[in-house]
Amino acid sequence: MKTPLYKRVLLKLSGEALAGTKGFGLDTETINKIAEEIKYITEKGVQVAIVVGGGNFWRGRSGEGMDRTTADYMGMMATVINGLALQDALENIDIMTRVQTAIEMRQIAEPYIRRRAVRHLEKSRVVIFAGGTGNPYFSTDTTAALRAAEIEADIILLAKKVDAVYDKDPHTYHDAKKFEELTYLDVLKLELKVMDSTATSLCMDNRIPIKVFSLDEPENIIKVIYGERIGTYIHS
Ligand code: UDP
Repeated sequence: MKTPLYKRVLLKLSGEALAGTKGFGLDTETINKIAEEIKYITEKGVQVAIVVGGGNFWRGRSGEGMDRTTADYMGMMATVINGLALQDALENIDIMTRVQTAIEMRQIAEPYIRRRAVRHLEKSRVVIFAGGTGNPYFSTDTTAALRAAEIEADIILLAKKVDAVYDKDPHTYHDAKKFEELTYLDVLKLELKVMDSTATSLCMDNRIPIKVFSLDEPENIIKVIYGERIGTYIHS
């Protein structure tokens, strides 16, 4: 029987990933499908922490003419909506879940407490980190890098709309080159749009590997856990 490659993973789900083909808001079918894959890997003994994005509702930079800090706080709120939706989908299929927010909202979720998050993981509960880092001017990719370092995750699983990292946009250029493997320095030097540079530097400094792959293909989370050669592997 195959054994999972990782013991503890940090799955980053962008808001877009939860919107399915709609591109905005939440798509129940898509979320349920993701929840099933998460259930599968937790049942194989993998500890799963999740950082959710908010781009399916709001991004700080969408707020034209708005105060940037206010717009960013709105984005952080959007991630909480996504976190609760994901919690609901997981609990519907009997996966114990805790949402922890970087900004306190005690009536709806626990505040982020690292030791508590680790304890939940050890008890096979899925921990969803919402509210980003709690600070404006950051992204949920940076949150993923930060939380992965804090909980000592083995890898960040970066689920995207594209199936791997390319040297240019594969939707626009048919000769775009796909990378199977990259170093963080390559990502920074070639200015590849994997994560923002803050997130990439944080991963590089803390030697956290990243696997970039698409959620559009069925069972990709499971394939990654078993080491199938899909997507792009980024390391130091
Ligand atoms: N955000 C923030 N600080 C953080 C994380 C997120 O201010 O630590 C805000 C920011 O405005 C961002 C929005 O929340 O645009 C949604 O997050 P993100 O764009 O990373 O979501 P994704 O693209 O992954 O859906």
